[in-house]
Amino acid sequence: MKFADEFRSRELVAGIARNIRRAATHEWTLMEFCGTHTVVIFRHGLKALLPVNLKLVSGPGCPVCVTSRADIDRILALCDVPSAMIATYGDMIKVPGSRMNLSERRARGADVRVVYSSYDALALARKHPDRKVFFIGIGFETTAPSTAAAVIKAAELGLENFHVLSLHKLTPPVVGALLEGGTEVDGFICPGHVCAIIGARPLEPVAREWKKPCVVAGFEPGDVLQAILMLVRQLEAGESRVDIEYARGVSYEGNATALATMKRVFDTVGSEWRGIGNVEDTGLVLRDEFSTFDASPFIEREIEPVPDPPGCRCGDVLRGRISPPDCPLFRKVCTPERPVGPCMVSSEGSCATYYQYTGETNE
Ligand code: SF4
Repeated sequence: MKFADEFRSRELVAGIARNIRRAATHEWTLMEFCGTHTVVIFRHGLKALLPVNLKLVSGPGCPVCVTSRADIDRILALCDVPSAMIATYGDMIKVPGSRMNLSERRARGADVRVVYSSYDALALARKHPDRKVFFIGIGFETTAPSTAAAVIKAAELGLENFHVLSLHKLTPPVVGALLEGGTEVDGFICPGHVCAIIGARPLEPVAREWKKPCVVAGFEPGDVLQAILMLVRQLEAGESRVDIEYARGVSYEGNATALATMKRVFDTVGSEWRGIGNVEDTGLVLRDEFSTFDASPFIEREIEPVPDPPGCRCGDVLRGRISPPDCPLFRKVCTPERPVGPCMVSSEGSCATYYQYTGETNE
């Protein structure tokens, strides 16, 4: 049996689910912060294995979904720079800005390339020295180190046509912002890939100050259920601490090399989260030393904040206040083919996941 296969075994999953049903004697609401966990929960039908007194709600853990419309407009503004080439992850192509998305802008002549890594964007810059390559740096702590590494490499190569629009976001402080904003949950299933970089320690304030237990989970069905069991056991015992379920991928202190790379390139600033607002110390911008690689100065027009489209409840979905089917546009007006909000665009967006895995009844 392969290593991860153990965590997919039917017997293991059924056994953990049994233990959860035995352990949960009160009503508890847990938030899976991360969109990848939402997909695992739906793909494997895990909700059906849980007792009725245990509720799972989805959180804001999809970087595409939390990107503000104004930030999409900033990317669109870069398309207007003479000789611009936009290099972006594919998920961003259909996210609506205030007037159009990148796909529509490409149809009107912009040079928009889909890349799979920051190094692909770097390669484009090397191949096309006569073009300005703008890499759209998006993602949480999982992708920020590779963007930082590409910037360092560009500096070493002396590249003058590689620029990063950093929309990267840091996750731990936003959990506190959610709780401050009134999101009512009892504990958090935390993302294993993010914590593989930052470790589990940055989650301690959530457990200590907010008394909300956190468990870092992997991405197999057995991982997610085991994390739920660990959370339930803490809650039933009146405890609140940070535990790691995903010990095969995460250490308490994280990845020192990746953290040092991020720290060398980025400063932290406040960042606008769609539906949540500006959250202190969650944005990453290039340090002065790397300012020549910053794409922001190329944006010449003023970009105003833009509210969500009328009827779109992405903000409430991202805060865990409602489920996607509670949005009046869900499935009727807003679909993956014609998304109104970003939660329907990304394959890890809550609305797209509900759309794919629930039927017409939205159950
Ligand atoms: S269904 Fe569409 S419009 Fe409604 S919250 Fe989700 S993405 Fe936004």
